[in-house]
Amino acid sequence: MDEKLIIAGPCTFGSYEELYKVAEEVKKRGIKYLRAGTFKMRTSPDSFQGLREEGMEMLLKIKKELGLKIVTELTSIEQVKKYGDKIDIIQIGARNMYNYELLKEVGKTKTPVILKRSFSATYKEWILAAKYIKNGWNNNIILCERGIRNYMSNETRNIMDIQAIPYIKHNTDYKIIVDPSHSSGNAYMVEPLAKAALVAGSDGLLIETHYNPSESKCDSIQTIDMDTLDRIINFSNNMRWFLCLKWQMN
Ligand code: PEP
Ligand code: MN
Repeated sequence: MDEKLIIAGPCTFGSYEELYKVAEEVKKRGIKYLRAGTFKMRTSPDSFQGLREEGMEMLLKIKKELGLKIVTELTSIEQVKKYGDKIDIIQIGARNMYNYELLKEVGKTKTPVILKRSFSATYKEWILAAKYIKNGWNNNIILCERGIRNYMSNETRNIMDIQAIPYIKHNTDYKIIVDPSHSSGNAYMVEPLAKAALVAGSDGLLIETHYNPSESKCDSIQTIDMDTLDRIINFSNNMRWFLCLKWQMN
C-alpha cells in the first residue's frame, strides 16, 4: 500500500522564526514535506504578497537545517529558472493552471510538480494543462483538487469536488491529492474533508497548518492546529494498516 503524500505547513510566513517553529512541529510528526508560500498569488494586490526571494532563501535554509522537503508555489518563468531545481516539489497554483508558458517552463525541469485545479476548470482542461508540463521533460505530475467555485461562497470558500479523485484515477495515470484547506475555507471542516478524501482514494493531502493558526499571516480561518493534524495523520496511518491487512487476508 503506497504511503500517502502528506504535505503540511503555513499558507505563508512572516519571519524565519515563525517558519522554523512550524517546520519543527511538522517534522516532529514524521511528515517529510513542508508547504509554505513565499510568492503569494493574492486576490487583492493590497494583501501581503509573501516574503518572496527573501522567503525562498529561508525555505532553502530550512531544507538544509531540518532535512524537510520543500513544496512551494512558483508563479513566473524567472522563478522556475532560478529555483525550480532547488526545491523538492514545484506548486502551480489555481490561478496559474491556465498559464501555459509557465507550465511549459516547468516541463523543462525534472522536479515533481503539483498542478492545482483552477477555480472552475473542467477535468479535461485540467488534464490538458498537465499535458503542457508532460510534453516537456517532466512526467512527475501530481494533480491537486483544491475546491471549485460554488453558489454559497459566503458560507464556504469553495467546494471540494470529491468526484475528481475517482475521475482522475480512472481516466489518467496521474496521482491526485486534495487540499481541504482552500476547498472549504474553514478549519473545522478540514479534518472531515481530509478523511473523506483519503477514503475516496486520494494519494495525499496538502494542508495549511500552524502552531497557532490565529497568528498565521494569511488564511488563518482555514488553518488547522497541530492537534488536528495529529488526528488526520493517525487516521491516514490506521487506514493504511487496515487496507494492508485486508489485502493480505483476501
Ligand atoms: C496555496 O496552496 O497556497 C494556494 C494559494 O492555493 P490555490 O492556488 O489553490 O488558491
Ligand atoms: Mn492559503
